[in-house]
Formats: sequence, structure tokens, C-alpha cells
Amino acid sequence: MKQYCFLLLLLYPFLPSSAQPHGHGHDHHNERAIHFPDTDQYLTLVADLHMHTVFSDGSVWPDIRVEEAVRDSLDAISLTEHLEYQPHAEDLPHPDRNRAHDIAAELALPHDLMVLRGAEVTRSMPPGHSNAIFIQDANKLLIDDPVAAFEEANRQGAFTFWNHPNWIAQREDGVATLTDMHRDLIRRKLLHGIEVVNDLTISKEAFRIALDNNLTVMGTSDIHGLVDWQYDLHKGGHRPVTLVLATERTPEAMKAALIAGRTVAWFENTLVGREENVRAVVEASLRVTSAAYFGASSVVEVTIHNDSDAAYLLENLSGYSLQSDLGPITLSPNGSTSVNVMTLKQLGDLSLKFRVLNAMVEPEKALEVTLQIKPE
Ligand SMILES: [Zn+2]
Ligand SMILES: [Zn+2]
Repeated sequence: MKQYCFLLLLLYPFLPSSAQPHGHGHDHHNERAIHFPDTDQYLTLVADLHMHTVFSDGSVWPDIRVEEAVRDSLDAISLTEHLEYQPHAEDLPHPDRNRAHDIAAELALPHDLMVLRGAEVTRSMPPGHSNAIFIQDANKLLIDDPVAAFEEANRQGAFTFWNHPNWIAQREDGVATLTDMHRDLIRRKLLHGIEVVNDLTISKEAFRIALDNNLTVMGTSDIHGLVDWQYDLHKGGHRPVTLVLATERTPEAMKAALIAGRTVAWFENTLVGREENVRAVVEASLRVTSAAYFGASSVVEVTIHNDSDAAYLLENLSGYSLQSDLGPITLSPNGSTSVNVMTLKQLGDLSLKFRVLNAMVEPEKALEVTLQIKPE
């Protein structure tokens, strides 16, 4: 893995305006808005591509899913009703498996929210449950043979992913494990992603499978009830989402990014994904806004702004002791944090290396970042 330094052009106010974090038109003042900055190269779109309504086994009408997504400032959702599992069918007979999407898409028209047509192909193992997003017609996926359903989804231009591979109802030990059918689907490029995060669970084994098989890392809520209740939003919680690094804020660009694997899952206070994607998000989040020695001392106060919802936990690998912290440093989300670094003599520039303990690039490996600093 190549060593990487990120040269924040330091010392605000000399920061060029092009390097300032820029949003993409969302209201981040809303307290429950999920916010991560755009990266150097891409827009950071926030997506939840797995959820249910009364049109399968969820508890709400599609308008609630739209309203929740607007409140969370999501860029995209998909109502992925179980095609085959229809427990409310006696009360809500609806032969059209596109119906939930069509209602939500219309309700979303006044809002800045993309609703992507999707469905959950709901089978026993193998292959278990899988989502197909960007489909044209969900009804055509109601095919007995699960492999044929994947073929049809791909014919329709879908991005597909394996849902909750750690689900104990289908895998008693909770250990996500590829089957021959999955290997075959991957080899034929019919299966493109895997949920590393589903609802309240995260799977190291699924993360390993994603990295080893070039599958896109996904994080979704799979919400059936209410987001507010499930994720304790009143206590500052958030639903799990997938950050999608896309060239534009369009369904086409999102699909291209998902197929290319440019995602990071955001779960509780942890980011999970391929190193280049996690690095891009973390580095875009952090900016050194000031660095100055206290008088003639050799202790420099470094202030770091964190333009993201993650409370980054940094382990100091710089070789310098800190006067302000023993153990991990917590960078306040959407705020600034100062650390006092003992450099033993005044330096014209220094680099601070950190391990970001809650930014995982492999199941047992956290991201390392270096901040280049020029004290005043
Ligand atoms: Zn499922
Ligand atoms: Zn589901």
C-alpha cells in the first residue's frame, strides 16, 4: 500500500477558496442531516438503498420513507420491497411490484431526493436475499430460478448486492460465507456488491469478502419500522448509509460509482470501505486551520477542523508527545479540536501521523493519515 501524505494547504487564511469544503446544495444546518464533505474528485452522495413499506413487510406507507429521507438529507433511496414475501397481501392486494416505488417517486418530486427503482429478491440460501437497484420493472424479477432473476435484473441494467449475508436466520453462526452460487454470480458479473453493514449489524467477514472479490461495500438500514425509533435519533443516532463517491448528482453517475465500487459504509461512528475511498472521505473532512507555537516554547497548538458527522478517533503515531491528550484524540464532528504538540524545538514544518481508529480499510486495519503542518 503506497504511503500517502495529504498536503493540506495549511494556514488559513491562506487557504485557497477552491480547497474549501463545498456542499452540494443540502441543508446541513438540519440537525439530523447526515453530512460528509465532497472529496477532491467526487461528490459524496448519501444513499440508503434498502428499505421496506407496507408493500412488503414494512409498517409504513411510502410517504414516510420519503419524509424520513428528506429529514436525513439523503441524496438517494430505494424502496426494495420483498418480491416474494408479501405478508400484507390480503389487506393490500397489489399485483404490481413497482407500486411502492411509483408512489414514492411521485411524492419525492418536490424534494431534492432521488428515488431509485429497486426490489429485494427474497430467496432461501443460496443465494439468500439480494437487492437489485436501477431496474426497469420489478414484476419481471418474479422468476422461480434465482440465477435467472439475477440475469433479468442485469438485463434491466441493475446494480445488485447480497443483503445481510450475516443474518442468523439464514446463517446460524452469523459468519458471512460465499457459496458456489455466489462465486458463480460474481464470476459472471451478475452480483456487484455486498452489505457489510445492515441495520444494527456489521460483518467483518462480509468486508473481507468484499475486498477479496471486488464487491462494492454497502451499508443500509433495511428499515421496516421508523428510522427515528430504530436508530435513537433523539439521542443523536443516525441510520446506516452508503456514501457514494460520484461524478455528478444523477442516478446514472450513482450507478457508475456503485459499479466501480466507490463507496464507504457509515455505521454508528465507524466508516468502512476500500482504502482509497475511506481516505478520500477522511482527508476531505480534515483541515488544519491554525498552528502556532506558544511564545518561545516548543509546544505548538494545532487546530483541526472536522467537516463531517464522524467523531474521528485518532491514535497519535507522530513520534511527538502531546500535552493535550493521553490516548486517542477525538475530533469533534462538524467542529474544531486543538491539540498541543511537543516538538522539543520550534520547527518550520512538521508532519503529524495518525491512525484513524474508526475508519476501517480492512477488517483489522484502520486508515493512517498524515497532516502536514507549517506553524506560524
Ligand atoms: Zn432481506
Ligand atoms: Zn430487506
